[in-house]
Amino acid sequence: MARIAIVTGGTRGIGRAICEHLTQDGFTVIANYGGNDAAARAFTAETGIAARKWDVGDHQACLDGCAGVEAEFGPVDAVVNNAGITRDGTLHKMSFDDWNEVMRINLGGCFNMAKACFPGMRDRKWGRIVNIGSINGQAGQYGQVNYAAAKSGIHGFTKALAQEGAKVGVTVNAIAPGYIDTDMVAAVPEPVLEKIVAKIPVGRLGEASEIARGVAFLCSDDAGFVTGSTMSINGGQHMY
Ligand code: NDP
Repeated sequence: MARIAIVTGGTRGIGRAICEHLTQDGFTVIANYGGNDAAARAFTAETGIAARKWDVGDHQACLDGCAGVEAEFGPVDAVVNNAGITRDGTLHKMSFDDWNEVMRINLGGCFNMAKACFPGMRDRKWGRIVNIGSINGQAGQYGQVNYAAAKSGIHGFTKALAQEGAKVGVTVNAIAPGYIDTDMVAAVPEPVLEKIVAKIPVGRLGEASEIARGVAFLCSDDAGFVTGSTMSINGGQHMY
């Protein structure tokens, strides 16, 4: 029987590429999304992959959403915590709401999804959790104290949960993408983006599929000895 994977924020950008790669690898994939129904409909029409809406920052919505997926498709074997938002601004302009929304969705979402799916993986002695962090969680970024803190938190969360999963067949890893060509990066002003690309040694933005390949590896049986790790996929920018 095919393994079941949930990819949060799976209907657009990096998440969509992850859904497509996991499907190619034989998973039955369910893409979660936050609110853009039109994008979700287009995604399902183009890929044939199911999409289900809930807010990953809402604890109960995650428990209910994952229970619904399990009732419809079967036990969840892999979770990719990819949903994320930005609310950029320097500290003096950043509101508490900007801080809280980014922490609630980007970091809280990982906790909420793990609470829903980790116990079943532990009981069945096989599971994969992949959390999408960021180069800006490793290095920090001007105007992103909220986002950098949430993404940095993801890297700590990953290492801690990996220790809980290690003896029960559940691996927990993170990927820290550099700048990838998606809607999120399209929102960065052109002059700023030019300066960013100039600092990427390979001289271009990354493609969503280049992140997806890393995720697909971490979700495979081949990656059973990889846990608590962070894979940096960033074109050589900051060599951690
Ligand atoms: P996009 O903005 O293109 O897509 C974000 C996805 O997340 C959408 O599917 C969106 O759903 C979903 N989402 C947003 N909020 C919620 C929510 N509350 N509940 C459920 N789903 C939600 O992002 P990217 O593809 O660029 O980024 C994907 C991940 O990679 C993020 O975690 C991001 O921080 C990280 N990342 C991206 C980088 C980049 O350069 N692009 C670099 C480093 C990290 P909807 O369509 O409904 O809005």
